[in-house]
Amino acid sequence: MDDATTTEPVADPRQLFVLSGPSGVGKNTLAEELCRRELAVRAVTATTRPPREGEQHGRDYVFVDEEEFSRWMDEDRLVEYTQYVGHRYGTPLASVNEAAASGLPVILTIDVEGGIQIKRRWPEATLVFIEPPSEEELRRRLRARRRDDTVSIEQRLARAREEYAYAEEYDCRVVNDDLDGAVREIARIMSRRYPTRAPDS
Ligand code: ADP
Ligand code: 5GP
Repeated sequence: MDDATTTEPVADPRQLFVLSGPSGVGKNTLAEELCRRELAVRAVTATTRPPREGEQHGRDYVFVDEEEFSRWMDEDRLVEYTQYVGHRYGTPLASVNEAAASGLPVILTIDVEGGIQIKRRWPEATLVFIEPPSEEELRRRLRARRRDDTVSIEQRLARAREEYAYAEEYDCRVVNDDLDGAVREIARIMSRRYPTRAPDS
């Protein structure tokens, strides 16, 4: 990570696409699929949460301790940050700029409070709210993921209900029912809001 501070602009704010929505709705699955199809790149965010099994520093998150996170806040290196179920999360400008250098749409999978902060800073960024087909399906996905304990799942579902209140402020909503359908819908939103190729003549 370089020493960028938040005073440096990203190349083109239209390049930024925030994916938010309840935990377990499939934001990371969608983001990974968009990257696998080379339709977008992700900006890696920072957290004070400990890594889960299989998560890699620098790939899934930049894992930092409380002290370092506070230092980054003081040094104005984070373009937004939030507290989520007991841990702090934030987006380093350096990560955004690194991803933006690819020229592809940049995905931020962050919570709604972070999304609103991004929109305030860069009004041309696009906020996409991902919805589950139903609350039962959301609960099923959280359980099937086998990543969080029962308490954490209930906390995440409670937080999900709060997050819906912000959905109104988002530019678009996409229901993640059929994965391929949702990926294509997001790709369409991306090419509409950030056209990277000249139209066919
Ligand atoms: P989030 O990043 O929003 O917390 P994940 O991407 O980790 O959610 O997805 C949660 C679980 O739901 C994972 O087990 C994932 O495989 C599954 N999942 C994601 N999208 C779909 C979908 N369209 N249909 C069924 N299961 C899905
Ligand atoms: P998890 O602990 O499940 O990886 O993430 C918890 C929540 O924090 C998810 O909704 C995720 O999208 C969000 N999140 C991850 N990184 C950031 C970030 O940098 N900023 C904000 N505001 N939210 C984040």
